[in-house]
Amino acid sequence: MNTPSTNQLNSLGSADNDKISARGKSVLNQGEVALVGSGPGDAELLTIRAMRFIEQAEIAIYDRLVSDEILALLPDNCERFYVGKEQAKHCVPQDKINEILVHEARLGKKVLRLKGGDPFIFGRGGEEAEYMLQHGVSCHICPGITAASGCTTYAGIPLTHRGVAQGCTFITGHIQNNGQLNLPWQSLSCPTQTVVFYMGINTLPKIAEKLVEHGRDINTPAALIRKGTQPEQKTYRGTIGNLAELVEKHNITPPTLIVIGDVVNQLTEQQLKTPGFLDANDYVQPVTVKIA
Ligand code: SAH
Repeated sequence: MNTPSTNQLNSLGSADNDKISARGKSVLNQGEVALVGSGPGDAELLTIRAMRFIEQAEIAIYDRLVSDEILALLPDNCERFYVGKEQAKHCVPQDKINEILVHEARLGKKVLRLKGGDPFIFGRGGEEAEYMLQHGVSCHICPGITAASGCTTYAGIPLTHRGVAQGCTFITGHIQNNGQLNLPWQSLSCPTQTVVFYMGINTLPKIAEKLVEHGRDINTPAALIRKGTQPEQKTYRGTIGNLAELVEKHNITPPTLIVIGDVVNQLTEQQLKTPGFLDANDYVQPVTVKIA
């Protein structure tokens, strides 16, 4: 993949002095941390700011969701520290990760904390930033494309669509500490809204049952997107009623996103041959339902 280097990026629009001075924002100093969202996997979805921090890193502390393609962009001499998290199976507990970040920064290194998607969306980035600040470590924060946005787009699903979905909710399907899944089911069941569940694959039968119980039509289109934006991306389309069956039949495991709403079949009902590419030659107008 041809990713622009910092040098190339720095030469962009070099005639514009204002732009040049703005670049100082992404300078990572010794003893500082850059808390960076790496997006859902495709390295081309990194922001220019993320790329700049990656190129300056002396140590990268990263999670399971950061793709190999992105890790390959780290400088050769950058130390790598995997603190991989899997649902319900934290390799390194969160408080330990917090301590590692502060420890490495205090050693005077330029620390890159690289997280999948956006650090502040189901990423515990807020907790990490809070801990660092409380311990006197300054931290740059850099958003990433969150899975809900990246994966749906690469699957050909618009999250909102005029006349079909007026809004969209991102919510976690991860079971709470009390073993419950207490979610605002009534509002999630509104028919003109897209709902995206993160970490919901294991609780999917419960999610489907609750939505239907609160009035969402069992035939509402729904999709599962596994490894979105990556070469292995797979989209499984169905309805609320048969999603759980799809999981079993295809043995679908995390990382998978659940998308519920009429937008699912708005542009296509097919598996895109190339993630992120809608091929006009394959286009068959889907049958969609519009808000009356
Ligand atoms: N901070 C991340 C979310 C972390 S929670 C973000 O903003 O995207 C982890 C969950 O995100 C996974 O269980 C899955 O539901 C979803 N997810 C993250 N990356 C994904 C990907 N490439 N494909 C599908 N789902 C993904």
